[in-house]
Amino acid sequence: MGQHYYRSASNSLLARTADRTPKTFAIPVDQQHSPSSKRSPYIVFTAGGDYTLETFTEKRTTCWAFEPYNGGPVERLDSGEAPFPWDIPSLPPSYFKNHVMQLEVPYTASIKLCHVCGGPGRKRCNTCSGKGYEYCYHCHGDGFSPVTLRSATKDCLYCTGSGQRKCWKCGGEGMALCKVCSGTGQIRCFIRLTIKWTNHMDDHVVEKISNLDDDKIRNVSGEVVCQEEETSLLPLTHFPDTTVSMASAQLLQNHASSFPEEKVLKQRHKVSIVPVASVHYKWKNREGLFHVYGFEQRVYAPDYPQTCCCCCIL
Ligand SMILES: [Zn+2]
Ligand SMILES: [Zn+2]
Ligand SMILES: [Zn+2]
Repeated sequence: MGQHYYRSASNSLLARTADRTPKTFAIPVDQQHSPSSKRSPYIVFTAGGDYTLETFTEKRTTCWAFEPYNGGPVERLDSGEAPFPWDIPSLPPSYFKNHVMQLEVPYTASIKLCHVCGGPGRKRCNTCSGKGYEYCYHCHGDGFSPVTLRSATKDCLYCTGSGQRKCWKCGGEGMALCKVCSGTGQIRCFIRLTIKWTNHMDDHVVEKISNLDDDKIRNVSGEVVCQEEETSLLPLTHFPDTTVSMASAQLLQNHASSFPEEKVLKQRHKVSIVPVASVHYKWKNREGLFHVYGFEQRVYAPDYPQTCCCCCIL
C-alpha cells in the first residue's frame, strides 16, 4: 500500500468527519451563556490508528476414548494401518473463527469387556448402596405417621410402618443399569482425534489521544486503509507511520513464537483509521473538552458540565 493512498485516505476521512461533526455535536452558542472567549468552541481533528493481527491456527491432539458397543461392524485393527494425526485430511468450517471437531482415527477400534461392570451390564445401585431400600423420609425411619389427629399413633402411610421404602432408582433390586456400556457389557475403544482451530487476535492502538483510552478506539469502526491475508505475513515495513510498522513487526514476532504446538494456517492484518474530533468549549466560565470518535460518532465527555441531559443539548 502506497504512502499516497494512506495520506489521501486519512485526509478524506478527516474531511468527512469535519464536515459532519460540528453540525451534530458542537455546542450551540446561547446568548445568555455566551462564552467569553471568541475562540470557543473550537475543534481539533485527529485520527487514531488501530493495527490488528489475526493468526489462525490448528492444533491436533489424540486420546483414548470409549463408548457402549451395541453391535455392528468394527474396522479390524489388522485390516489397515492407523494414520498419524496430521495425515488425516480435514479443513476448518471457516477461517478466522474458533471451532472444535472430534473424529475417530481409522483402524484403531477394538471391542472390550466393560471395565466398570465387568460384563453383566448391571452394577450395584449407588442410591441404596445395593440394599434395594432406603430410609423413609416421611416418618424419619420410625414407621409412625408424623401427623395424627388422635392421640393414638398410626403407621406411616408411605412405608406402611416399616420405616423403609423401595429404592426409587433400582426399584428394590439393588442393581442398576451400567451407564458406561448402556447394559450391553461391552465397550468399543478407539483413538479420538480432537482438532481445535483458534483465531489468535492482537491489536495495537498506534496513536495516543489525550483522555481517550485504547478500548474506546478499538470498539468503534473506522476506515480500513490496509488489509492483507497470507499463509505467513511479512511486517508492514513501508507504512507511512513508523509506529504502525513497529507494532506490526512486534506482534508478528510474538505470534511466531507464542503457539509452538499449533500449525499456522493463515494470517491477516489490517490498519484502520478512526476519526476523532476533540471539541474545546467554554461554558459558564468553565473550559472543557469532549471527543467525538468513530464512524458511530460516539461522544466521550468526562468533564461534562451538567449531569441532567434535559437541560443541555449537545
Ligand atoms: Zn458396563
Ligand atoms: Zn415411613
Ligand atoms: Zn437402589
